[in-house]
Amino acid sequence: MHRVALVGRHLLNPSLVLHRQISMEPRAAVDRVRQSGLLKTQGLIGGKWTDAYDGKTIEVQNPATGDIITSVSDMGKKETTDAISSAYNTFNSWSKLTASERSKCLRKWYDLMISHQEELALLMTLEQGKPLKEALGEVAYGAGFIEFFAEEAKRIYGDIIPATLADRRLFVLKQPVGVVGAITPWNFPLAMITRKVGPALACGCTVIVKPSEYTPLTALAAAELSLQAGIPPGALNVVVGNASDIGDTLLQSTKVRKITFTGSTAVGKKLLAGSANTVKRVSLELGGNAPCIVFDDADLDVAVKGTLAAKFRNSGQTCVCANRILVQEGIYEKFANAFAKAVQNLEVGNGLLEGIAQGPLINAAALEKVETFIKDATSKGANVILGGKRHSLGMTFYEPTVLGNVNDEMLVSREEVFGPVAPLLRFKTEEDAIRMANDTNAGLAAYVFTTSIPRSWRVTEALEYGLVGVNEGLISTEVAPFGGYKQSGLGREGSKYGIDEYLELKYVCLGNMKEA
Ligand code: ADP
Repeated sequence: MHRVALVGRHLLNPSLVLHRQISMEPRAAVDRVRQSGLLKTQGLIGGKWTDAYDGKTIEVQNPATGDIITSVSDMGKKETTDAISSAYNTFNSWSKLTASERSKCLRKWYDLMISHQEELALLMTLEQGKPLKEALGEVAYGAGFIEFFAEEAKRIYGDIIPATLADRRLFVLKQPVGVVGAITPWNFPLAMITRKVGPALACGCTVIVKPSEYTPLTALAAAELSLQAGIPPGALNVVVGNASDIGDTLLQSTKVRKITFTGSTAVGKKLLAGSANTVKRVSLELGGNAPCIVFDDADLDVAVKGTLAAKFRNSGQTCVCANRILVQEGIYEKFANAFAKAVQNLEVGNGLLEGIAQGPLINAAALEKVETFIKDATSKGANVILGGKRHSLGMTFYEPTVLGNVNDEMLVSREEVFGPVAPLLRFKTEEDAIRMANDTNAGLAAYVFTTSIPRSWRVTEALEYGLVGVNEGLISTEVAPFGGYKQSGLGREGSKYGIDEYLELKYVCLGNMKEA
């Protein structure tokens, strides 16, 4: 197997300060995390770090080098059942704390994440592959959900409804839904957890997190910090291991009142169906097929910069990544040239190295999927403007790719490619663009580049998408609602709306209020 070259004698010192020198050798990065006490390899059940009951472990691999970083507990049904019991028992005390008490714990957790941002980012780059700068960005973004919901905890207001009879008073209380099962993917190993756990804990729910088997280390490190922050044992549990065993145990339990999931549409549908038997609340954030529409009247620089960011963040492995770049015919050639030039400058390599913009894909299956999509597109008439093959670094590195003359019959425009491939499709009119953009079962993010304000409104209103970026490619933030239309999901995460997913409404009628 090809190993990625890492050069520089000075890179071997684990006590290196990242802010001074971003490049680091993987072994030194692991040592640094270990020394900070954040390299956790067991599950967390009831506040105790716990091995799988049968002692089994799974290896966690660095996708940039193929090295095994460490092994973690390979848990299943029994451990999940115990984690559920622990969350269930802790619900009683955690939900009865005052909002201010819960808020203080969350705020402390946020502070600890920020003071350990470098160790968290190193872990993320090691197990997921994203460039360290992006990983640091994710720590800030991910921790931001905890900070936001620490504040929001104190703003869960009920209502008083004008009564229909003189001797009655009508109220609405908001109460935590109960024990929450949170299943998360590998592409944002921290933020996908904090955007679920933040609102859940803020309103008094307790949680069992099942992180992706590819990226459990960031989740476990964050959980360690939650204990240090004073979040009580049992309020946040983490089980790592067999996905369907853990998932089925969460689904079957009547103690688990809500499932929140980010991941593939196929697994999301399974979880939705599996929740029917116990009628759980379900929030889903599933796949996208984001259109990025560049109109003739767009500012070319803004469009290139925004599309680059929307397409190539995390090497194209996000559900809001631009999947189809629809370019109006008048600007097509100019845009294609400028965009390809910008893509050419993206440096590919191990994310621990300075200046790297594109890390590896998560695994061999992801690489093969990209290859299949490219083959399908070129066999149907697409032309490779840039890239189009595995990167000479080997492993799962793929060349940042731009495809021209793509049409809506190709896999690359029907499904998420989840890789560094930007397909350009040509359109004539605004109506064509809207029709093409909406011609999918997905509806998560869409991007529009135009300098016309009326057009930006018209198109935004017509797009069947939960998030729209106008003249901007990076739009996610903890203060705004995130979620999809159609088969991209159910519910919203982040923002003041995100906490509703974890709350029950209780209507109370106070009757027979006689005069004294
Ligand atoms: P991706 O293709 O992005 O990895 P998945 O939907 O396969 O998306 O994975 C997202 C999360 O769902 C991961 O934590 C994974 O382990 C988990 N998962 C996969 N299959 C199941 C299942 N049958 N039940 C519960 N969780 C599952």
